Amino acid sequence: MSKLHEQKWEACLKVIKDNIPLQAFKTWFSPIVPVKLEDEILTIQVPSHFFYEWLEEHYIGLLKKVIKKELGANGRLEYSIIMEKNATNSTPYTVKLPTSGKSSLKNSPVTVPLSVNENQIRNPFVIPGLKKVNVDSNLNPSYSFENFVEGDCNRLARSAGYAVANKPGGTAFNPLLIYGGVGLGKTHLAHSIGIGIKNQFPNKTVLYVGSEKFAHQFIDSIKNGTTNDFIHFYQMMDVLIIDDVQFFSGKEKTQDVFFHIFNHLHQNGKQIILTSDKPPVEMQGMEQRLLSRFKWGLSADLQSPDLETRIAILEKKMYGNGIELPNEVVEYLAYSINTNIREMEGALTSLLAQASLNKKAITLDLAKQMIDKFVKNTAREVSIEYIQKVVCDYFDLAIEILKSKTRKREVVQARQIAMYFSKKMTKSSLANIGAHCGGKDHATVLHACRTVNNLSETDKQFKTYLTDLEKKLSMQ
Ligand code: ADP
Ligand code: MG
Repeated sequence: MSKLHEQKWEACLKVIKDNIPLQAFKTWFSPIVPVKLEDEILTIQVPSHFFYEWLEEHYIGLLKKVIKKELGANGRLEYSIIMEKNATNSTPYTVKLPTSGKSSLKNSPVTVPLSVNENQIRNPFVIPGLKKVNVDSNLNPSYSFENFVEGDCNRLARSAGYAVANKPGGTAFNPLLIYGGVGLGKTHLAHSIGIGIKNQFPNKTVLYVGSEKFAHQFIDSIKNGTTNDFIHFYQMMDVLIIDDVQFFSGKEKTQDVFFHIFNHLHQNGKQIILTSDKPPVEMQGMEQRLLSRFKWGLSADLQSPDLETRIAILEKKMYGNGIELPNEVVEYLAYSINTNIREMEGALTSLLAQASLNKKAITLDLAKQMIDKFVKNTAREVSIEYIQKVVCDYFDLAIEILKSKTRKREVVQARQIAMYFSKKMTKSSLANIGAHCGGKDHATVLHACRTVNNLSETDKQFKTYLTDLEKKLSMQ
C-alpha cells in the first residue's frame, strides 16, 4: 500500500494526464517525485529550478485545480528543488519553494542522493549537478579576427566584438547582438569572438550553435525526456554564441527555454553573443520579454561594405590562398558584386576554378563572362559605382573628379551621363544617385536625365557616347 502523499499525487497525475498532451506529460510530470503531505501541503520534488519555473508558468492553472480537487480548498503545493552543485556546496540538496510565497522556508537543506546512471545520459547533454563540461566549441579557425577586414561598414560591431573577446561577461555588451543582411559577416564575426576568447581564456567553456540546431536539440530533448539535461548543458556555458536567432520567431516553446537559459547565464555574468538578420525592433514573432533582453546589451549592425573594403576582403582571401590576380579583375569583381560578401567570394572561387580547369589565364574578359553567369540568377544590378567607373574610363576622367563638385563642362556631362545610366540601370532612388555623384539633390538628377535624353535626340556625337557606354555597361 503506497503512502498517502503518493496516492494523492497519483490522483492528481491522472487528471493532469487527461488534460495535456502525452509528450508534455512525460516531459514535465513523469520526473516529479511526491515527497510528503503535511497540513494539506503536498510537497513535490522537481529536478531543477528551471523545471519549477516552467511548471509555474505553463501549468499553474491546472495544478491549482487538481490540488483543490484532491486536497480540498486549503490544499497547497510546494516544490522541492534539487540544486546544482556549486563551489561552496558540493552536495546536491533540496529546498522548499512555495508557490504562493507565503509559507516560510524553515526547512534546512536536506541531502538527496542523486541517482544518475551515466549510460542513460545522451550526448551532448550532461549529468545534472555537473559544473563543468568539455565541449567542442564548434568554432571555425578561419573565421578569426585576423581574417576579418575592418571597414566603416563593420567598425562598431567589430570593436564591440573585440572588447567582448578580451573581457567576456565583463563589458556592458551583454548580450552582444550582431545584426545585418545575408552574407555580411555575422557568422564570421561571431566565430572571431569565440576564437578570441578561447585563445585568451582556454578554460572557458565556449559554445557556438546555430539557432536551428538549438531548436532541434530542444525538440529532441522533449521527445527523449531529456529536457533537463538540455537546459543544464546550456546553462553551463561561460560563453554562448547563438547564430541567426531570427529563426526562433514564432517558436514559443523554444523561445521560452532560451529565455530561461539566457536569464541563468546573464545573472551569472556569462557572456551571450547573438546574431540576427534584423535589429530587435524589427523582429516579428518574438516574445516581448526576449526582445527586451536582446536590448540590454549592445545591438551593432553590419552594413554592406564599401568598395575599398570589398577589394581588401578579396585581397585578403587571395593572399590567404596564395593566389594572385590582375588588379583590374579584383576591382571588377568588387565593383560588380556590391551587397553580399559571400557571393563575391563565391564568384572569386568560381573564377579560380574555371581558370584552372581550362588552363586559362584570368583576364578581365574571363572575369566578365564568369560573373555574368554567376550572378545572372540573383537579379544582378549594375552598381552606381560600376557605372561611374565605366563612364570615367570612357572619358578618361578620374572618378574623384566625377564625384567632386566641379562644374567643368566635360565633367558635368560625364556626371550627367553617369546619373542617367544609374537611373536607367539600377533601382536606386534619385536622391541616392545624387548623393553618389557629388552630393547633388534629386532634382539635379532628374534634370540630368532630361538633359541626356534631349541631347541624345539632337546631338549625334553624344548619341554615340551613349550607345558605346550602354554596350560596355551591359558587357556585350
Ligand atoms: P552572414 O553570417 O552575415 O550571412 P558570413 O559571416 O557567413 O555572413 O560571411 C560570408 C562570407 O564573407 C564569409 O566567408 C566571411 O568570411 C566573409 N566575410 C564577411 N565579412 C568579412 C570581412 N569583414 N572580412 C573578411 N571576410 C568577410
Ligand atoms: Mg550566418
